[in-house]
Amino acid sequence: TDLIALIDRHVRDIPDYPQPGVVFKDITPLLGDHAALTATVRGLADPFRDERIDYVVGLEARGFIFGTPVALELGAGFVPLRKAGKLPARTLSQSYDLEYGTATVEIHADAITPGSRVLIVDDVLATGGTGHAAVELVRRAGGNVVGLSVLMELGFLKGRERLPDVELRALIAL
Ligand code: 5GP
Repeated sequence: TDLIALIDRHVRDIPDYPQPGVVFKDITPLLGDHAALTATVRGLADPFRDERIDYVVGLEARGFIFGTPVALELGAGFVPLRKAGKLPARTLSQSYDLEYGTATVEIHADAITPGSRVLIVDDVLATGGTGHAAVELVRRAGGNVVGLSVLMELGFLKGRERLPDVELRALIAL
């Protein structure tokens, strides 16, 4: 549709970032354009409007930018999922493998009322490692993961295969 084309036009390719051979999808032009930003936030929220979402969990850092307005759209609260060591109160943490080494993400242990309905939001789904860790963490915190909503899915990295039991929605799939 026109809105998807509008969003797509405001994402640019940055070759060799953050390392040689990688083409990074830079979403900052989209943030700077009111029409594209509005379309994106609505697009992320739309599939979940009837799902009675209690919390949107945003993944550091671009998931914070999109997740907070999506939470407002859905009448939900916002919960940050952060890289290790950034949250001040007691946390649950989850480590996952990267191509080289591991990464750890954390959530406040008391951030999600057990049994509540959670939508996870991020900008890009690549290998699915971050998304999978987020799903595990939200479940350990007592939340029901209703879905994962992303702006862009890099299909060739097969991240979706790591999330077989999650309602994954992407505005743009490459
Ligand atoms: P994954 O864990 O799925 O491999 O990587 C997804 C995480 O890395 C997301 O939090 C996302 O923000 C970031 N990421 C990976 N590749 C890209 C990219 O090309 N563009 C942007 N904007 N983020 C990316």
